[in-house]
Amino acid sequence: MASVNKFCVICKSAKGKFNVFTDATLTKCKEILDIRKAKKLKFADVILPTIVTDFHCYHLQCYKSFTALMSKYRESTTSTSQPSPCTLPIPETSESVSEPPSESTTSESVAQPSALTVDPSFTEQ
Ligand SMILES: [Zn+2]
Repeated sequence: MASVNKFCVICKSAKGKFNVFTDATLTKCKEILDIRKAKKLKFADVILPTIVTDFHCYHLQCYKSFTALMSKYRESTTSTSQPSPCTLPIPETSESVSEPPSESTTSESVAQPSALTVDPSFTEQ
């Protein structure tokens, strides 16, 4: 087993107490990094792992400072040009259930047998 040294991707230090990335934190960091790169902010040169690994870690303090600036930026740039916040199109389940069941209510016109209406007064003679 090749032991890869853990390091903080933000400050690149291999010392300290590390936190391992999760999909959620990594995704968040990527979003932040995009903004930082766009705004040419601090930590813009941070190289994030493309996937969650055992050795790509972060210090909680580094993570906090890395993410903290973003919220500040988010607040100030909400009205201005904001990078598209990944708007997933909601698939509409437009199943037309409103349509009534086409029940063929064809009232069967029962061909009534034209029975010879026997006149009761007509008695046999
Ligand atoms: Zn760090």
